[in-house]
Amino acid sequence: MKPIYRKVRPSVTMSLDQQARALAAAGRDIINLTAGQVDLPMPKAGKDAIRKALEGDKTGYVPATGSPEVKATVRVRMGWGEGEVLISAGAKPLLNAAIACICGPGDEVILPAPCYTSYPEMVRLAVGEPIIVLGDSKNDYIVSGEVIEKHITRQTKAILLNNPVNPTGAVYNRESLRQIVDACIEHDLYLIADEVYSSFIYDEAFVSLYEFSSIRDRLILVNSASKAFAMAGLRLGYAVAPAAVAGVMGGYLSHALGCPCSLSEQAALAVLSLDDGYEKDVQAVFRHRRDTLCEALAEIDRWHVKRNAGAFYLWLDVSTWDDDVLFCQKLLSREGVALTPGSAFCCPGFVRMAYTKDVSLLMEAAARMKRFVRATYNSSSIVKS
Ligand code: PMP
Repeated sequence: MKPIYRKVRPSVTMSLDQQARALAAAGRDIINLTAGQVDLPMPKAGKDAIRKALEGDKTGYVPATGSPEVKATVRVRMGWGEGEVLISAGAKPLLNAAIACICGPGDEVILPAPCYTSYPEMVRLAVGEPIIVLGDSKNDYIVSGEVIEKHITRQTKAILLNNPVNPTGAVYNRESLRQIVDACIEHDLYLIADEVYSSFIYDEAFVSLYEFSSIRDRLILVNSASKAFAMAGLRLGYAVAPAAVAGVMGGYLSHALGCPCSLSEQAALAVLSLDDGYEKDVQAVFRHRRDTLCEALAEIDRWHVKRNAGAFYLWLDVSTWDDDVLFCQKLLSREGVALTPGSAFCCPGFVRMAYTKDVSLLMEAAARMKRFVRATYNSSSIVKS
């Protein structure tokens, strides 16, 4: 096996999810809050489109980077005027393609952190060097352009920015994005943007990096139907990139992936053409969950539970109690609540709680966590009432 690939770790979030599923399959009462996937049904129009496509035998290959009508629909829906649109099997292959096309042996990609668990491994798969730049906890781990600039070297090829952020749920505002855009232009870097949580935003309007026209000739912007339309298993993502980059990414995707799934393309075509407020409805459900859960968790004393501005994760500091991995293991074995340790996102001391279950289960999880903290870490003195 290639030594470089031996360094690549399997996805920690997926393995924890599997552990929790295995316990549930063995009959344990598990509340699994590890996986970042929406638990609501996808839009009916998408389901109908798949049935119709299947009946119509639309089961052959489609073009490597997606069918023209799907690209056109994505372009309109996302407001991507300039650049080439690419369709693939989710955001992940598009991110891998972007990194692989930009990055060669020894090249560096800056990753503002805490970051999505796959990013460092994606860079390693491309035989590059992930440069993890941890934000300041006092500023919700938002990494400023100034701090990023300190890590730029002659080997730096790109910055990979996720907004809203998995795992913290933080959101970069226009000014913080502008600083990063300016740093990329000044140092001649690509900006790879992952905006898969763009429709999960609760307090302020979302600012896409596409809005900065000065960066478009070096911006590779990725999004997908996985979160926005609850279609994670259907694997349908989209990206926009400058024509020259898109051409190279298309070559990579044609050999590595073949093409997007023909049925998922039809579902995407249907849901992206809808203007029925599905995303707003989902947003309202998640906002309610966030608010209710935060109130319940705030009852656990000494716990500073901050409402996330985006995505669907709470980012909780457990450092006064335990190592984050041990915290998650104990909580899972004693109370059957599965969370993800911050170490999976390059930030030990924290845990990520995905509120991807209905409110009653989230309340039950909060009650179990309260009982767990009281029983495991201290007497009732640290738990309010
Ligand atoms: N980026 C981020 C930040 C994610 O959290 C995820 C999935 N959890 C992905 C990309 C992968 O998205 P997709 O299912 O579209 O490949």
